[in-house]
Amino acid sequence: MPELPEVEVVRRGLVTHLVGARIDDVQVFDPRALKRHPGSAAAFASELSGHTVTAAVRRGKFVWLPLDSGDALVAHLGMSGQFRVSRDDSLRHERVRMVLNDRPPLSYVDQRLFGSLAIDHLVPTRDGFAAGLGSDAALLPRQVAHIARDALDPHLDLDAVIARMRTRTVAIKVALLNQELLSGIGNIYADEALWAAGIHYLTPANRLTVEDYQVLISEAQRVMRVALTAGGTSFDSLYVNVNGESGYFDVSLSAYGQQGTPCPRCGAPIERAKWQNRSSHFCPQCQRVS
Ligand SMILES: [Zn+2]
Repeated sequence: MPELPEVEVVRRGLVTHLVGARIDDVQVFDPRALKRHPGSAAAFASELSGHTVTAAVRRGKFVWLPLDSGDALVAHLGMSGQFRVSRDDSLRHERVRMVLNDRPPLSYVDQRLFGSLAIDHLVPTRDGFAAGLGSDAALLPRQVAHIARDALDPHLDLDAVIARMRTRTVAIKVALLNQELLSGIGNIYADEALWAAGIHYLTPANRLTVEDYQVLISEAQRVMRVALTAGGTSFDSLYVNVNGESGYFDVSLSAYGQQGTPCPRCGAPIERAKWQNRSSHFCPQCQRVS
């Protein structure tokens, strides 16, 4: 699943390939790619057609494209969603195509169909600050309004996030992945941050100190910034992104995917455990449940 850095690279690609363009025609090849859209596929196409995209904005793993109609096109990539600049008609798993007035068509491709495009109304942010990266407007799609500011958002109120997490009795990894508390942290960055802070993923969130959280969140921010730098340099101009399942950026990781290799801190082999339909990677020596 693409995480914040991968989705940010998609947003940057959309700034280049979609912002300023007028959408002249929309072809929906598979309405299952519109499952977050409240209306029909025909309504989706007609609400987009003739409108110009004015920005590309991201919060967490959501990207939205405000339109000159006053609404926004919202994209959540799910497991395998991609935007591709297509010059041919043979893209596999192409679900939606947007024909643009002054540049090649843009295709939404999604093999596994966990992602979705939708058109949604914009609502004001609760704190009055800019809603996400890519626009100064304090407006976000209604279906994104419950998503918390992400870990790299300059308007993130870190003290408030930590205070809320410290009231939770769930495992710390559950709290870190809860996009309504803090968005953008997925499995990779959660495992890396927990390893860096020396915290076991099953530790109850209310047992950690403010200092623990400061280390945890700053480490998640650090790894995501490194990934963003790597992604920014491997950008292929033909693709708006290349975030297929193997498309993670080349970032040196200490815990995630490192099962069996020595912990960089103590040398004990990193372990991988099944956890909530995914996996957790940790050092059994330096990350213990306290
Ligand atoms: Zn260790």
